[in-house]
Amino acid sequence: MHILLMGPPGAGKGTQAAELKAKFQIPHISTGDMFRAAIKEGTELGKKAKSFMDDGKLVPDEVTIGIVRERLAKDDCKKGFILDGFPRTVDQADALEKILKDLGLSLTRVLNISVPASDLIERAVGRRICKKCGATYHVKFNPPKKEGVCDACGGELFQRADDTEETMKNRLSVYEASTKPLIEYYEKKGVYTEVDGRQAIDKVTADLIETLKG
Ligand SMILES: [Zn+2]
Repeated sequence: MHILLMGPPGAGKGTQAAELKAKFQIPHISTGDMFRAAIKEGTELGKKAKSFMDDGKLVPDEVTIGIVRERLAKDDCKKGFILDGFPRTVDQADALEKILKDLGLSLTRVLNISVPASDLIERAVGRRICKKCGATYHVKFNPPKKEGVCDACGGELFQRADDTEETMKNRLSVYEASTKPLIEYYEKKGVYTEVDGRQAIDKVTADLIETLKG
């Protein structure tokens, strides 16, 4: 079960990755975690990545790809993995193909949790968070009993600075532009499936699992 999980910011990718990880007992490999682990272990590539990051520079592809290769070569990936956040470009997708081929593996499915931009904007703009306990609410979909007050602890609810229509629009257009070529890439390979991320969380999970059975 070698899965590549895609989805725009706010589509619930993290939640679904956790569900799939538990269901199939395979590791969830996100780019961020992978970098942190390589840096912590002090591998050559980890050191290289850190030096770029410390300088505030983008980590070059060869380093990123090397770190992905090291991670996917570990024993726990033989049975499967959920890859998240890599590849981001067609060049990286080609590199991933090569890594998997060298390891005698192939992608089972590329799953995209699809949610229209207008829905994601509505979700973000209505989100309210408790200052005291961090509980999250939504003014329309999950409102607190009393406006502006946390049900759990009575704390004050606030809106995150980046939960605005403008910020979300920008993030989503950047995401869409970078993802489109990847979608075409995996469609051509016949491994791409889109799942409707507007549904309830457990229905999205059920759809993802159903797709993987096919
Ligand atoms: Zn609270």
